[in-house]
Amino acid sequence: MIKRVEINYRGIFQKTLAKRIGGDIVIIASRMGKVGFSNGRYSDSPERNGIPCKYFAFVSPDLEEEELEAECGAKLDIDEADVSVVVDDTMVKGVEPWGWHGVRPINEKVVEKGCLLVVSRKRHDELTRFTARTPYSYRLATIDGDASLAGLWVFKDDLTHERVLGAIAAVDPAIIAIDAVEAYLLAKTKQEHRARAAREAYDAVLRQTSVVTPEQGIAWPHETPELPPWHAFEEGAVVRAPARHFEMGPGGQSRNASFKRGTTKTLRPVIRFDLCISCTLCWLDCPDECFDPVEGRLYDVSYAYCVGCGKCADVCPIPECIVMVDELQFDSDASPWEHYRSDPDGYTRWAEEKKGTARYAYPHVTGTGFEIRERESVAPKDLG
Ligand code: SF4
Ligand code: SF4
Repeated sequence: MIKRVEINYRGIFQKTLAKRIGGDIVIIASRMGKVGFSNGRYSDSPERNGIPCKYFAFVSPDLEEEELEAECGAKLDIDEADVSVVVDDTMVKGVEPWGWHGVRPINEKVVEKGCLLVVSRKRHDELTRFTARTPYSYRLATIDGDASLAGLWVFKDDLTHERVLGAIAAVDPAIIAIDAVEAYLLAKTKQEHRARAAREAYDAVLRQTSVVTPEQGIAWPHETPELPPWHAFEEGAVVRAPARHFEMGPGGQSRNASFKRGTTKTLRPVIRFDLCISCTLCWLDCPDECFDPVEGRLYDVSYAYCVGCGKCADVCPIPECIVMVDELQFDSDASPWEHYRSDPDGYTRWAEEKKGTARYAYPHVTGTGFEIRERESVAPKDLG
C-alpha cells in the first residue's frame, strides 16, 4: 500500500514551507516504522514567484525503500492523492503549473474519500464555489490561517508547518499519527509550543472537516490545451510571437495567450478610476505589462495576465487608488474599466466593498512575509 500526499504551494515564497512539510512526513513515518519518500516538482524552470508548484510525500507500511522510490520517484506528477494540501487558499480557483498545461482543478488528484486540506479562514462553501465537481465524494478540511508567504527562498516561521503536520494526522492517521508528530517536533526542536500547535490543529481539523458531494462545486470552465504529438514538433524550440498590435481600450496591447499567469496571484489590484490622476506609473512599472491605456487617460488592467505582484499599488501616488485585494473575492477576469464606464458610481461602490478595510503588506524580498493591517477605506467621491 502507498499513501500519497501532494503539497500545493506558491513557487519560491512557500517553497521552504512545502519542502519541510514533505520531508517531515517522511521522517515521522519512518519513526513509526514505515518507509517514506519525498520529492518536488518544479513547475517551471526556473521556478517563478507565486507560480503554483507541488511537493510530494509517499508513505508505505509494507514496501521496501527501493520499491517505493521506484514506484513514485520517477514520475513528474502523481495520478492520485490521499491528501492534497493547499497552503494558499487562492489556489482553489485552479492552478496552471506549466504554460502548456491549462488551468487544472486543485482537487483533481484527490481520491474518493480522500481529503483536500486547505489553510484558509474561509467557510467551506466559499471554497467549493471555485472547485471542480467530482464524480465521487471527498473530504474538505481547513486549518485557520492566512497564506504563509515569505520572501525569496525565506521560511516564515509562523507554525503553519507544524499545524499542517498535525492536520494531516487528523485527516489520515495511516500517513502519520499525531503522537508521532508531537514526539518528533519535541525531539527535533525541544520547543513545546511547536508540538502544541500541531495538536491544536489536529483537534481543530477534526471539527472542521466536511464531505463534498458530487453535487457541490462547479463545472470546470477551463479547457485543457491540445498538445501536438511528438512527430508534429517543429525542429528546434519554436515560440510563436504574437503580431505586434496596439489600440486604445481593454486588451488593446498584443499579448501572448500562451503566457497568461492568472493563477499566480494571491491578491489582485482593485483600481479606483475616479481617483486616478493619469500619472502613467502603473502602466510603466507593471512587470507583466498588464495595463491598457483607455479613453479618459485611464488605465485598464488585464487580470488574466496579472501575477498579483503589487508593484502597481506600490507606485501609484494616490492613496487608496490601487489596493491589493484577496483573489478569492472575485469570480471574473473581466475588464474593471468596462464596468466603470458602464456604471461609474456602481463600480466605485463595488470597488470599495471589495477593498474593505484589510490592507496587505507584502515585502517580497525581506522575508518578513505577508501581513494584514486595518485601514480606513476612502469614501467614494460624488456618492454623497
Ligand atoms: S499586481 Fe499590478 S504591477 Fe503586478 S502584475 Fe498585476 S497589474 Fe502588474
Ligand atoms: S499609478 Fe495610479 S494615479 Fe497613476 S495612472 Fe495608475 S492608477 Fe492612475
